[in-house]
Amino acid sequence: MEENSPFIFSRAEIRQKGGLTSAFKPDITLFADSLEKPAKIQNLELALEFFPDEKGPIILSGSLEAELRLECSRCGEPLTARFKENFDEVYEDTVECIDVRETVRETLVVLAPMKVLCSDACKGLCPVCGVNRNIKICSCQPPKRNSFAALDNFNKENTAR
Ligand SMILES: [Zn+2]
Ligand SMILES: [Zn+2]
Repeated sequence: MEENSPFIFSRAEIRQKGGLTSAFKPDITLFADSLEKPAKIQNLELALEFFPDEKGPIILSGSLEAELRLECSRCGEPLTARFKENFDEVYEDTVECIDVRETVRETLVVLAPMKVLCSDACKGLCPVCGVNRNIKICSCQPPKRNSFAALDNFNKENTAR
């Protein structure tokens, strides 16, 4: 047992004290590979609260907050946003030490959103020339219009038959 790890708690101590709380800023290098690149974790904060059940297991109710460096799903520009996630865990009485690292890791994985935008108004990249349309204006024809026109012709041909 790693006695000094801030992630490891003694079941006996939690039971003896009738509960335990811990809030700390863990070393993020431990979790650096939890998120898929290019996502990066910054300023991780953990708050843990253990409740011993009268006879049964020990219940952990925790919250995790972190800043994530992500890329806008539309334009690819880097952005930093803060996220918070609560988690619960139940530890059976058979475990001597409670190690929360895996729970923290699992929570970090769900913390990062599938899609994130630098702004709701993000114009994204031009599908033709690839410029960031938030920064530059290009004179490319929007391909959407062309595909609609093609669809229109297709429909006309179909109804003509
Ligand atoms: Zn964007
Ligand atoms: Zn363009």
